[in-house]
Amino acid sequence: MGDDLPPDAGPPPARRGPRAATVAVRAGRPHRPGAAVNPPIALSSTFELGGDRLYGRDDNETWEAFEAALGALEGGDALAFSSGMAAISAVLEALPIGATVVVAQDAYNGTRRWCADAASRGRLGVRLVDLGDPAGVVAACEGAQLVWLESPTNPCLVVADLAAIAAGAHLQGVSVVVDNTLATPLLQRPLALGADVVVHSVTKWLAGHSDVVMGAIVTADGERLEQLRTRRSLGGGVPGPVEAWLALRGLRSLPARLERAQATAGELARRLSGHAAVERVRYPGLGSDPGHELAARQMSGPGAMVSFEVAGGAEAAEAVCEAVRVLTPATSLGGVETLIERRGRYRFEEGTPPALLRMSVGQEDVEDLWEDLDQALTAAVAT
Ligand SMILES: *Cc1c(COP(=O)(O)O)cnc(C)c1O
Repeated sequence: MGDDLPPDAGPPPARRGPRAATVAVRAGRPHRPGAAVNPPIALSSTFELGGDRLYGRDDNETWEAFEAALGALEGGDALAFSSGMAAISAVLEALPIGATVVVAQDAYNGTRRWCADAASRGRLGVRLVDLGDPAGVVAACEGAQLVWLESPTNPCLVVADLAAIAAGAHLQGVSVVVDNTLATPLLQRPLALGADVVVHSVTKWLAGHSDVVMGAIVTADGERLEQLRTRRSLGGGVPGPVEAWLALRGLRSLPARLERAQATAGELARRLSGHAAVERVRYPGLGSDPGHELAARQMSGPGAMVSFEVAGGAEAAEAVCEAVRVLTPATSLGGVETLIERRGRYRFEEGTPPALLRMSVGQEDVEDLWEDLDQALTAAVAT
């Protein structure tokens, strides 16, 4: 276990006041005698004229409770969207026609697809960069409007030096966006590291139960916030109030879920590193991982995603997914159930090693997960 990060590694919280686990539970609750402890699911599309609210595509009481909680955790103001991709679209659509965007070549599949599509229509110029080379990322920022970062990346778990890249980008007047979906604000706070905007797929760890599709943006810059709020109203990518309520309910237990999942992930990563059927494990908590030192500096824990490459190539990796009985072979991540999938099966994953399996560790008993992985790996490599 000497390879694992200590649980309290990373920078101290940037602000005073309650710690993250307390904020996750307390923020966004009305605090007055007789108030409901949870917000209502506000199911009204319209409001009588003359008050603060007008129409359900502009604001909603249930979204606002979720936004207050996420904003407090990230250190900014949040806006809820109908999906992570709706949030990502809103940020990129706010750029002028023909603007240049620097994008991590390891970024989430959907982000890269969005950018490739925009480039093919002349909407944006796109420069793909290697996050492992921060100086190269900063150099690519020349003349660009925005740099799109993700750390750790999905699915290869590459760790980017967010503070160094943000500082270099800002010297050139380039805005910095960080997709913080895999780390969550409990493990990493990009705004404190210099980012201008954070985006989330709330679908994943924040909502946490594989029952919601939702997204969010967070920024501490009031002008950007209003610009993005306008984009949300005009683009119409707004979440349903039921989804926002479920996401907030999920967020309340994120500290407990993540702590347990992370502990299990660390143990599974360590055991997988010693398994004869595994060629390489990618997990920033392992001392051998290229992102280990950086993660120890900028994150308060390595997270609960583990990616590993199976000996025997893509076929053997698919066989592992077919042989598991406790783990669920499915896409997505961040739920209470452990999910596994071979990312290389999808378009736009040509850069992902074909034998790589991405595992999102859930809440099951670590020994049941290990026995299942061990039997599936052993069977898959034997055939
Ligand atoms: C899933 C995901 C997204 C997209 O979010 P949706 O809620 O599926 O639209 C964006 N970024 C990352 C890192 C993701 O894992």
